[in-house]
Amino acid sequence: MKIGLISDIHANLEALEAVLNGLQAESVDRIICLGDLVGYNADPEACIERIQSECEVTLAGNHDFGATGKYSTEFFNEAARKALAWTKEKISPEHKQYLENLPLQFVDGDIMGVHASPDEPGHWHYVHSMQDAKEAMKAIPAPICFIGHTHIPGVFTMDPNENVGMEFEPTFYFEPGKKVLINVGSVGQPRDGDPRACYGILNAGEGTYQMKRCSYPIERVQEKMAAEGLPENLILRLAIGK
Ligand code: ZN
Repeated sequence: MKIGLISDIHANLEALEAVLNGLQAESVDRIICLGDLVGYNADPEACIERIQSECEVTLAGNHDFGATGKYSTEFFNEAARKALAWTKEKISPEHKQYLENLPLQFVDGDIMGVHASPDEPGHWHYVHSMQDAKEAMKAIPAPICFIGHTHIPGVFTMDPNENVGMEFEPTFYFEPGKKVLINVGSVGQPRDGDPRACYGILNAGEGTYQMKRCSYPIERVQEKMAAEGLPENLILRLAIGK
């Protein structure tokens, strides 16, 4: 069983298409989306439709609820708030209803997923530090949990004595007895200094998780954003992956 993991698409259609092609080439059995389908970039409607047709499980992110009014946009920074105001005008009532009804988490046997942190999924805590990861892993009922939200990929581990470690290698090998918290990174707005779209593949048979990157036509996305009058800092950051 191979599972494709994607998160934080943020209405970046070119990045999403590149990632879906990559997942198809790897013959994944199913795709799980950890939320933030919209916000920041210029193609919310097309991205929602592609996710609806390609993903078996799709979770809610803070931007998804922000775009529907379910979560107040006062908690977002100025550029994000402007992009959400633009997004609100663009999405159809059907898509708004779809986003509003997305679940906050899924659990399936040994794996689970949330957008932000398994410690209070609806409060959108950021998991940046080892301490954040420890609190998050203490909260998970399943041994493997997938997250997004920070747009920074990486794997946190915790042994039975609650010693926490972190790995950034492209291939991670699961070890029995260790809890694992995997940030799958961002499809549509990476922030780890690598502007390529980020996603992951869980190979249950091999006991591995692979962090994957793929290039996409960033300039085309930037041109669409400029044409829609989206904030300049959101346009510029795509090229540097920050
Ligand atoms: Zn996000």
